[in-house]
Amino acid sequence: MAQVIVRRAEYDYGRLRPLVFHLLETLAKDKIKPAGRVLIKPNMLSAARPGDAVLTHPLIIRAVVEYVLEKGARPQVSDSPAIGSFETILRQNGTAEALQGLPVDCRPFRETAAADIGKPYGRIDIARDAVEADVIINLPKLKTHSQMLLTLAVKNTFGCIVGFKKSQWHMRAGVDTLAFARLLVAIHQAVKPAVSILDGILALEGDGPGKGGSPRKIGVLIGADDSFALDCVACEMVGVAYKNVPILNVASDRQMIPSFDLDGVLPAVADFRLPAGGRLVFGPQRMQNFLRRHTLAEPACDAALCRMCGKCREICPAEAIADDRGKIEFDDGKCIRCFCCVEVCPYGALRSRETLGGRITRRLINALS
Ligand code: SF4
Ligand code: SF4
Repeated sequence: MAQVIVRRAEYDYGRLRPLVFHLLETLAKDKIKPAGRVLIKPNMLSAARPGDAVLTHPLIIRAVVEYVLEKGARPQVSDSPAIGSFETILRQNGTAEALQGLPVDCRPFRETAAADIGKPYGRIDIARDAVEADVIINLPKLKTHSQMLLTLAVKNTFGCIVGFKKSQWHMRAGVDTLAFARLLVAIHQAVKPAVSILDGILALEGDGPGKGGSPRKIGVLIGADDSFALDCVACEMVGVAYKNVPILNVASDRQMIPSFDLDGVLPAVADFRLPAGGRLVFGPQRMQNFLRRHTLAEPACDAALCRMCGKCREICPAEAIADDRGKIEFDDGKCIRCFCCVEVCPYGALRSRETLGGRITRRLINALS
């Protein structure tokens, strides 16, 4: 039986450190061996400050590093940001300062190793550090996600795909959100973190997972020895039916969601704001193909916030963004609705926007249900 632990928490290191130690001692004690290589995988999407609620908080990372050191193991903190340098991100969000003086290896994923993630993908390139680590401690941030509805523990392991290979996988899945979810589940199973601790102290609602979202104080840490169980508990907390999250929909179909023991009181978070149109992707089973084709939300730019930095165009795997007329324009025919552009916009100028088809369908579904 999997174990999930929920605790109230603040970014106050005096109280946070013993709490993180308690979670790791309960969930991962026997897995961390002296001299073992422990990969700590936070969410380091792109440059942001702790108050933006985009990245795993530096104090959580520090507490985990200290625990690993206390066990006599060798900690490494790594990720592959969507955009920008890993070192700059660590500096700007305060992780470099939080880890100062600790003997910890901090570096981006660079080298890859082939790992078999099963049919239909076979052997794919995954960060060598993840493939070869003795133990992985996964530190996701609780955020909304314009494509996947929420990004939690399972989604966080997609960061083990290095650099622009992520875009190639987005292109391969195209607009089929379920196909992308199947890939994310397979990657997660290949790296299989021993434990995950979700930073839900300051979460992100609205148009996440980047700066288009809005910070929302929830004040919890959720630890688990199974990512699917953790993600289900987080969904319940924010009032989302887990089957509406593509990753958990796939996991549920494959009977990968284990029974779990829940320790702690789960707060009920009222009116947690989701990305526009997010709930429509998974309607009634018989309508899913139709819904995907006609009702997926689309990216939209707020010209007043856009500074024409070009980062969205740089990341777009479908080359669906043009900026040559002094403004950002999307090619709807090419856009695969991956929302990588929304994810990386440093100024929060991009949002997901519900289409007319989406609005009409939502009203119809509401009227019929
Ligand atoms: S939308 Fe955002 S990422 Fe794109 S050019 Fe404007 S500011 Fe830069
Ligand atoms: S425009 Fe945005 S949502 Fe569309 S394919 Fe490009 S990055 Fe993805």
